[in-house]
Amino acid sequence: MVHLQEIQSTIPAGVELVAVSKFHPAAAIREAYAEGQRIFGESRVQELREKQAELPADVQWHFIGHLQPNKVKYIAPFVSLIHAVDCEKLLREIEKQGARCGRVIDVLLELHVAAEESKFGFTPEACEAFLSEGGWREMPHVRICGLMCMATHTDDETRIRADFRLAHDCFKSYQQTFFADAPYFCRRSWGMSDDYLIAIEEGATLVRIGTAIFGARSY
Ligand SMILES: *Cc1c(COP(=O)(O)O)cnc(C)c1O
Repeated sequence: MVHLQEIQSTIPAGVELVAVSKFHPAAAIREAYAEGQRIFGESRVQELREKQAELPADVQWHFIGHLQPNKVKYIAPFVSLIHAVDCEKLLREIEKQGARCGRVIDVLLELHVAAEESKFGFTPEACEAFLSEGGWREMPHVRICGLMCMATHTDDETRIRADFRLAHDCFKSYQQTFFADAPYFCRRSWGMSDDYLIAIEEGATLVRIGTAIFGARSY
């Protein structure tokens, strides 16, 4: 049983729900689909390919996990948003594959704001430097639509809120500096099952919710 309506009822207009279906079977996705959900998030390329082949064509598939450049080719033909672009090499590969299939692929840049050490994500400084450097402007098959982040894994609401707020401040700054004439730069992907209500208060326009909809995952 999926808890879609319960979650959807807590999400205000203007915020999109990404139902994170990773590790859950296609049957669970079908159930949520029957209740009207169309955006699903997956974090493994192979799993996404299998589900995409099996499920209705109007599902919007979001890739939310860490993506290896050599796997972009498998999802480029159909993916509707790649949430976690964390380096220029990956962006260049998305450009290449977008060109190959004649699409403009929407992406978000992943910002590393959490306390945990992570190999993934741009620090705010690195992200600003990357945008200033400007190589992305020569990538017509990629559209940078906003930012994604994950908050620190903690019960401390103050810290979680501060992480999202920092991401939102970066968003506003980059929007003014680099995307002033780009209305599509408007998406902020933050918030998961445990912290999405805080994320919405701190400016999320996309929340990525798995466990609260589909139950616990068995890894
Ligand atoms: C798995 C995952 C989620 C969903 O997490 P839940 O706690 O199950 O809601 C959200 N974002 C990313 C990047 C994930 O990998």
